[in-house]
Amino acid sequence: MLELSRASWTDVAAHLESHPAIAVLPVGALEQHGPHLPLSTDTLQADTVARRLAERLDAVLLPALPFGNTWSNDALPGTVSISADTVTAFAADVAASLERAGYALLVIVNGDFGNRLPLQRAAEQSAARDGMPVLVLDYPGLVEIGDEVKDSPWAAPGLCHADEIETSMILAVAPELVHSDRMQPAYPELPADFGLRQMALAPLSPSGVFGDPRPATAEKGERIIDHVVVQSELVVRRVLAALHPAS
Ligand SMILES: [Zn+2]
Repeated sequence: MLELSRASWTDVAAHLESHPAIAVLPVGALEQHGPHLPLSTDTLQADTVARRLAERLDAVLLPALPFGNTWSNDALPGTVSISADTVTAFAADVAASLERAGYALLVIVNGDFGNRLPLQRAAEQSAARDGMPVLVLDYPGLVEIGDEVKDSPWAAPGLCHADEIETSMILAVAPELVHSDRMQPAYPELPADFGLRQMALAPLSPSGVFGDPRPATAEKGERIIDHVVVQSELVVRRVLAALHPAS
C-alpha cells in the first residue's frame, strides 16, 4: 500500500511500475453524530476501511474528503454540508486526473448515505465517456454484520446513525473522541413514508441519535470494520476479474 499524501512522485512512479494501478478514495462527512460522537465520524470510518482495503489490495490510498452531502442533518450546529453537485464534481475530477496518470480503477469507500447518489453519478459520468472504471462501495456487508453483533434494535431497517454500530466503530479507531458519559438511546417515531422519500433527519431526533449507542464496544467495532473490509475486497476482486479476465 502506498499513502499518496506521504509519498513523493518518484515513490508513486515506482509503485505503479510493480503494482496494480488501483486507487482507493475515502469520502466522509462533517456531520452531527449525537452528543457523544465527533463530527468527523463518517470520515474516520471511511478512512479506516479504505486504508485496510488499500493494504489488502496493495493499492494507492488517497486522502479522505472530510465533507459530504449532509443537508439532512445541517440543522444541528457543526454539520457542514456540501452540495450533491460538488460531491459529484469532486469525484469526477479526481477520477479524470487519476485516469490521465494511468490508473486502471478508482475504488471509492463512501462513509455517508447522502453521498451515495452523487458518487454513483460521478461513476456513471466516467462510464458514459468510456473512462476509467469507478467503483463506489457503501460498506458492503454492514447490515449483515450489524445483525450479528448488535445487542440493540435498529431505529429503522438498515438505518445506523450515532447508534451501536457507529459508536462501536469509533471506539475501535478513535476511542479518545467518544464521550461515553453522554450516550443516550433515541428511537424517534419515524413518519410512515420514511425511506420512501427524501426528508431531513435532524427534526426527527432532537439528540441526533437513531438507535442505542450504549452497548457499543471497541471489540464489536473491530468485527464490523473487519467484515466490511473483507466484503469490500471481495467486490473489488470480482470487478477486477471482470475487467481483466485471465486469458
Ligand atoms: Zn455516520
